[in-house]
Amino acid sequence: MKIVMLGAPGAGKGTQAKQIADQYGIPHISTGDIFRANIKEGTELGKKAKSYMDAGGLVPDELVMDLVVDRIGKEDCANGFVLDGFPRTIPQAEALSAALNKKNEKLDFAIDIDVSDERIVKRMSGRRACVNCGATYHVVTIPTKKEGICDRCGSETVLRDDDKPETVQKRLAVYHEQTQPLIDYYKNKGILKTVDGTQPMEKVFSDITAVLGA
Ligand code: ADP
Ligand code: ADP
Ligand code: ZN
Repeated sequence: MKIVMLGAPGAGKGTQAKQIADQYGIPHISTGDIFRANIKEGTELGKKAKSYMDAGGLVPDELVMDLVVDRIGKEDCANGFVLDGFPRTIPQAEALSAALNKKNEKLDFAIDIDVSDERIVKRMSGRRACVNCGATYHVVTIPTKKEGICDRCGSETVLRDDDKPETVQKRLAVYHEQTQPLIDYYKNKGILKTVDGTQPMEKVFSDITAVLGA
């Protein structure tokens, strides 16, 4: 099963992608997590990506395309993958499609998690992310069992720098301009499935599994 998750920043892509990955035994590949890990480790890639991320913009396509193409060529992706945060531009989607075509493969589904901008802004201020494993929580709707501690791995959870309200507005603008066109792109390919992301997390997940057919 080869899946890409679409949706605005904060729509719930990561939350759902993790559950899909667990349920179907496929890797969850988050480009945001990959960049944050690189920043933490102080790699060249991390240094290049950081300024774009802090400003709420997109990291240039050439810094992300090869990285993802390499990643989905790894052995653990033999049965598929769930991509979260990639593609974010039409050229990225074309690069993904070309890489899969080369192997006579194609995407099965593009799942768009639909949430209005207004709700996004409210959600982001409450988002807390694990510094170690990238799991996300929400102080009101999806709290950790122990305050400030990740349920999955026991590390600290924090408000991401780019989840501050000013940056969130910028990221939403970038989303509408550069990423939203992917909805029509995948609709035209006949693999777009839209789910209502304003429902409780469990209901969003059951809508997704209904779409995936299991
Ligand atoms: P969110 O989950 O809030 O949508 P992500 O963790 O996916 O955010 O991404 C954080 C930041 O990393 C983005 O705002 C962007 O700067 C950068 N980024 C992640 N994935 C991509 C991508 N595919 N192309 C360009 N930039 C990306
Ligand atoms: P994305 O990966 O699309 O940026 P996340 O999965 O990180 O989004 O979710 C953004 C925030 O919203 C997090 O704080 C998360 O806990 C919360 N959240 C996710 N799904 C829901 C939901 N269905 N209802 C309410 N809050 C949610
Ligand atoms: Zn964790």
